[in-house]
Amino acid sequence: SNSVLTITMNPSVDISYPLDHLKIDTVNRVKEVSKTAGGKGLNVTRVLKQLDVPVTASGIIGGTIGQYILNQLDENKVDHAFMKINQESRNCIAILHDDGDQTEILESGPSLSESDEESFLEHFEDQVSGFSLVTISGSLPQGLSTALYSKMVKVAAKHNVPVILDSSNEALRLALEADVKPFMIKPNQDEIAQLIGKEVEDLDDLKDKLATEEIFQDIPWIVVSLGSKGCFVKHIDKFFKVNIPKIHAVNPVGSGDSTVAGLAAGIVNQESPEDVMKRAMTVGILNTLQEKTGYIDINQYKDYFEKVNVVNY
Ligand code: ATP
Repeated sequence: SNSVLTITMNPSVDISYPLDHLKIDTVNRVKEVSKTAGGKGLNVTRVLKQLDVPVTASGIIGGTIGQYILNQLDENKVDHAFMKINQESRNCIAILHDDGDQTEILESGPSLSESDEESFLEHFEDQVSGFSLVTISGSLPQGLSTALYSKMVKVAAKHNVPVILDSSNEALRLALEADVKPFMIKPNQDEIAQLIGKEVEDLDDLKDKLATEEIFQDIPWIVVSLGSKGCFVKHIDKFFKVNIPKIHAVNPVGSGDSTVAGLAAGIVNQESPEDVMKRAMTVGILNTLQEKTGYIDINQYKDYFEKVNVVNY
C-alpha cells in the first residue's frame, strides 16, 4: 500500500473575517466569512489528497466544532479516524483588515490529561500498521506530555512505519534525542537555530551544523526549508541544495505543510531522493501561488517541477 496517516493533535476551524478597517471597542460587521478545517496536519492531508495519495486524517477531536471539521472532511471525501473527546475543538480567528494587516485570535483548545494521552497512544497503535507512512504536524494540546511525539515515533517504528515529524521546540527536540528517531524532519531555519541555540550564518554553516551537532545525527532525512530560497537537505551522509524558480508569491501560509505533503508523496511512491526533493519544492511553490492555505493547482505541477534543480553541496 502507499497510504499515509496524517496526525493533527489540535485541529481547528479557521475563521477568516475580512474587514476594510478594524474598529476597536465597538461593533464590526463582517459579510464574507470563511470557515475551514485547519491545523497543520489537515493542510498536509488536503494536499496529499490533491496529489492522489491515499490518506487518512487522525489526531484528537471533539464537540460541535470537531463535528464541523469532520463534516468538511467528509464533503472533501477525506477519510478520517480521529480519537473523539468530550471537549470542544478550537476556533482560530484571523481578522484581515486595513490593507494587509492580520489580527489573530487563537483559542488554545481542549485541555487533556495523562489518561487521554494513554488512550490516544492506543488509538494510534491500533491504526498505524495499516499505513506506509505517518506525518505528524504542529503543536500539542495543553496537558499532553511534550514527549508524546517521540512515543508515537517509537510505536510507529515497532510496526515498521516511518514518521515525518514537522514540529518545533521541546516536542521536536525530545523526538530527535530519543533512541528511536523520526525518518524525516522538515525544520525551517528558525527551528534549526532554536534546536541548537545558535544562529545559522549561511549554507556552509548550516551544512557544518547538520554534520556535526549531536541532535541531527541518525535522522535519515533533514529537509531545511528556506522559503523563496528552496531548501537545504541532509540525506544519510549526503548534502543537497535545492534551487527553485523565482515566483510571485500570493499567500505562502501553509507552504511548509504542503512541502511535507510532497515529501510524503515522494516517499510512499518510492521515488528517487532527487525526485522526492523536487516534488516537495514543487508542491511548496504551488501552494504559495494560491490564496487558499493547503491548496494547489495540480495542472501547474509539471511546469514548476521542471524548473526545480538539485545540486550536491
Ligand atoms: P509555513 O510555516 O508558513 O508553512 P515554513 O517556514 O515551514 O512555512 P517555508 O520554508 O516558508 O516553510 O516554505 C516551504 C517551501 O515552500 C519552500 O521550500 C518553497 O518550496 C516554497 N515557498 C515558500 N515561500 C516561497 C516563496 N516566497 N517563493 C517561492 N516558493 C516558496
